[in-house]
Amino acid sequence: MTTKVKAIVLRAIDYKDKDKLLTLFTLEQGKLTASMRGVKAPKAKLKFAKEPFCFGEYIIENTKGNNVITQVEVIENFFDITKDIDKFYEGCAILDVVSKLSNEEPNHAMFIELIKALKALCYSNVKKYYVFDKFLLKIFENMGYYFLSNKCSSCGYDLSDNRYFNLDVGEFVCEKCKNNLCVKISNACFAGLKFLAQTDYDRLPNLHLGGHAEIEVYNLLDKNFEWRFSKRFVQIV
Ligand SMILES: [Zn+2]
Repeated sequence: MTTKVKAIVLRAIDYKDKDKLLTLFTLEQGKLTASMRGVKAPKAKLKFAKEPFCFGEYIIENTKGNNVITQVEVIENFFDITKDIDKFYEGCAILDVVSKLSNEEPNHAMFIELIKALKALCYSNVKKYYVFDKFLLKIFENMGYYFLSNKCSSCGYDLSDNRYFNLDVGEFVCEKCKNNLCVKISNACFAGLKFLAQTDYDRLPNLHLGGHAEIEVYNLLDKNFEWRFSKRFVQIV
């Protein structure tokens, strides 16, 4: 059976002598693995099509349960992400999040968000962490874990200066409702989260949060991810 899918390469590992085994995140079939034959040979065509971050149209032949890629038309290779070490680590964290949260079910919202994030990372100069933070905020929202409310999730009281993030439920609570699974969130961190959520990718280069808020935002998203999904993404260093 032959299928054509739009896909982004999440991972590529050596396979047999000259082959690669790719993990693809596809628009039509979610995550799948497929091999590419002979691509490690020095003169192999489709050089970019086997690299992480590549976005293309892949033709896959399935015989006896094995997926083999027979043809690729590269749409965008996002190669510049790999030329800047900061962008590279951030891009790897984004691919890792997709890899950990996707399965064989299609997820159009996640696919579209991934393309937007990779484009922003590749073609504009956004401060480190921001593209990843925004991507993650959108992923939480798409999966039903939106948490940027101005009211305490427990009593409904307006949150002013004393905000706590309840890791157990993944929402903000007030001083009175906090328990020992809550972490204090600074006003700068809360404002940073809101700015990141409300700013489109193409306007992210104009955004500057304070140094401490930046770290706090990232750490909160990291913890929330761990509590919601019981796993951690590869860290941006
Ligand atoms: Zn409360």
